[in-house]
Amino acid sequence: KIMPVLAPANLHLGCSAGSCQRYSKLWKVFAPLNLILLLFLLGAIIASLMLTRPHEIWVPPLDDQLIADYSSHLNSNDIILIIGAGAAGLFAGYTLEYFGMTNYRILEASSDFGGRVQEMTNFLDVPIDLGAEWIHGDPKVLMDLLLFHNDTVDIETISYQPQTITVFRNGRRTSRNWFRFFYREFKFRNTTWYSYLKEYVVPYVQTKLILNSPVMAIDYSGTHSNTSQIHVTTEDGRIFFADKVIMTVPLVVMNNTQLFPELPATKRQAMENVYIPSGLKVWIEFDEDFYSDMQLTGSLFGYNNDAPFFFDSVFRKPSSRHCLTYFDVSPNTHKLTGLDDDEILSKLIQKLDNIFDGKATHHYLNHHVQNWEKQPHIGGAYSFGWDNYDWTLRELQRPINKKLYFAGEHTEPVEVATVHGAAISGRQAAQEVLKDLQ
Ligand SMILES: Cc1cc2nc3c(=O)[nH]c(=O)nc-3n(C[C@H](O)[C@H](O)[C@H](O)COP(=O)(O)OP(=O)(O)OC[C@H]3O[C@@H](n4cnc5c(N)ncnc54)[C@H](O)[C@@H]3O)c2cc1C
Repeated sequence: KIMPVLAPANLHLGCSAGSCQRYSKLWKVFAPLNLILLLFLLGAIIASLMLTRPHEIWVPPLDDQLIADYSSHLNSNDIILIIGAGAAGLFAGYTLEYFGMTNYRILEASSDFGGRVQEMTNFLDVPIDLGAEWIHGDPKVLMDLLLFHNDTVDIETISYQPQTITVFRNGRRTSRNWFRFFYREFKFRNTTWYSYLKEYVVPYVQTKLILNSPVMAIDYSGTHSNTSQIHVTTEDGRIFFADKVIMTVPLVVMNNTQLFPELPATKRQAMENVYIPSGLKVWIEFDEDFYSDMQLTGSLFGYNNDAPFFFDSVFRKPSSRHCLTYFDVSPNTHKLTGLDDDEILSKLIQKLDNIFDGKATHHYLNHHVQNWEKQPHIGGAYSFGWDNYDWTLRELQRPINKKLYFAGEHTEPVEVATVHGAAISGRQAAQEVLKDLQ
């Protein structure tokens, strides 16, 4: 049936003259449609190939001049303080170590390093990323970021390409499995972002890490106690002196640290230009797998990139357990993050029961809620919307008076809002500090 439609009019594939004429007319009608269909298929194949190809992440190489001069920094008397031990702060310290600059400290407010990179090892039979989970690009970046053992790293990742995808909208659950041809990212197989930092970065900066030390004030006026040094005061009243400070704290909590003099108006404007939603992740374990690999909660076209969704927490991971993760950084997240954990769970179970005809209640075993808005030194998810993007990121990153330097996911113009972006920003800030020390 298809053959005549596809056959050009001047081809006679053993048909009678009359039927050939009919086919010839049909061909005239359908030829343009065939062409459109063909172009559509070709477009879809090209789109699929492009969208599922790992995004190459460019890690800027180290500064050549610094490499040539780096031994001059050994035994430098200058002191560098890094505020915050998330990916940006850790990589800033790691880079200083690489250049032989050991006269630095990392002040971290909480009792552990990692910031928005945290893990939970006692919930399932595989470790779980409580914050960042995806590797948003080619996993090669994990190697490219490392300076000390580029050749010896062996990290197992999985290709994260959910096969069964459904959308729940207007009370109906619809299959969107075709989406698998257009989406692929990566995750750690049996480890986490946290264990990556712990294994490959933290050992180099461990002795410089000072935990439980929220910085409350930074005086960089150069007028304090007749020294040009910067005075950094922690919550418990300790004072640290420094020549350079690298700030890596999340934007949401930046104002908790008093700065003297206060930040320039342009920097404050840039901070206001960034929208950071609340962030919520909830794991719900069941005794049966009754769900799809990814369950989107729809929008007009069935999916938009800030709508909350559920996904199989252990997809392609070596686990025998059944668990769904709820991921929400939508503009409405705060409606949930304002509730206590039990209320959040009950709302989500209700949602799932709606989608899966009461199966969530029936098969529920256990849960864990990670409410990022309530983390006192984090306060939200990650940069999600910007006014005047280029200007804003440039201003957020711009150092002040060769004294205050800035790093963090919100300052990296290309790989913003990611772990590797934060790491790159830390590396860049450290190099900038070293250049200014020369
Ligand atoms: C729910 C969620 C999911 C995410 N998913 C992904 C993902 O899949 N892939 C991805 O690449 N990225 C993801 N991200 C983003 C990623 O986690 C961040 O971009 C990155 O970890 C930020 O690193 P950072 O160093 O800039 O900030 P942080 O990790 O926030 O580190 C800042 C540190 O500063 C400390 N601090 C704050 N105030 C003070 C103070 N006054 N004194 C001293 N220390 C202070 C904090 O405790 C924290 O440790 C996700 C984030 C969230 C919240």
